[in-house]
Amino acid sequence: MKLIDGKKIALKIKDEIKDQVYKMIELGEKPPHLAAVIVGNDGASLTYVGSKVKSCKQVGFNSTLITLPENISENELLYEVDKLNKNNDIDGFIVQLPLPKHIDENKVTLSINPNKDVDGFHPSNFGKMALGMKSFIPATPFGIIELLDRYQIKTSGKHTVVIGRSSIVGRPISILMNSKGKSGDSTVTVVHSRTKNIKDYIKSADILISALGVPDFVKKEMVKDGVVVIDVGITRVIDENSEKGYVIKGDVDFESVKDKASYITPVPGGVGPMTIAMLLKNTLLSRSINS
Ligand code: NAP
Repeated sequence: MKLIDGKKIALKIKDEIKDQVYKMIELGEKPPHLAAVIVGNDGASLTYVGSKVKSCKQVGFNSTLITLPENISENELLYEVDKLNKNNDIDGFIVQLPLPKHIDENKVTLSINPNKDVDGFHPSNFGKMALGMKSFIPATPFGIIELLDRYQIKTSGKHTVVIGRSSIVGRPISILMNSKGKSGDSTVTVVHSRTKNIKDYIKSADILISALGVPDFVKKEMVKDGVVVIDVGITRVIDENSEKGYVIKGDVDFESVKDKASYITPVPGGVGPMTIAMLLKNTLLSRSINS
């Protein structure tokens, strides 16, 4: 079994970005500027956004954190998005999801200027990605592709099974894995909560990408020998013995599955750090799109 070290690769990518930022500054250009909008006080969302802002500093980007109250109206939030769309100093921005229930997330996503949509959630970017055109690719699937590429894992002609069909992970990664080109050309099966005989599909996977959010869902007996396992799941599980009161669990029972896998990502330290690194990569791209 070979561990896919997302933490190490993410640090490498950040160093590469940092070098590019130095070069920009040497040429008299401004460093890229990422803004993050957070609505409310959800603990996990605050942690994610905090890490994103911290990572900007690490690579020399400018960053702006916009914290808005839980009870902000949809119109007020749309107004904030519009200001960011028009602000020439901001190259790219994200609106951290989930949003409070009274706000229509689709409406907010649609209101973001696609050229600044570094999360890659706008239909314009999603559509371009599906058509194989240059676009912002959602950071988590982008990170998975990058990991497979950097570990030189062969995907062409392989059977990839994706568990989960969300628009931020399952669906985009299934499109990318069966697209032509880098880390693609795979034959993809997407399974979800309505799939019958899900275990049969999982057992047939050469590459298994799990994004369902159920801790330890994938067990040793469900996978075949030599499988490549990418565990996207991140779930906080209460653990009174830990300092924080919870532990982070993936979808895969790592301890039992690792002996059967040829490659496997740990949780934490696998896909998670890559998501942030690829958001930074998208921000660098937005800088060139908008200048
Ligand atoms: P989501 O929107 O809740 O989607 C979950 C998907 O899994 C759905 O398609 C659902 O099927 C399917 N599913 C749920 N229970 C299932 C079951 N028992 N059997 C088969 N399929 C099942 O979640 P998400 O946003 O894609 O996130 C998935 C996980 O990845 C979460 O743990 C999340 O925290 C994590 N995540 C990690 C990162 C990272 O950076 N590492 C980034 C994003 C998300 P239906 O469609 O039929 O409901």
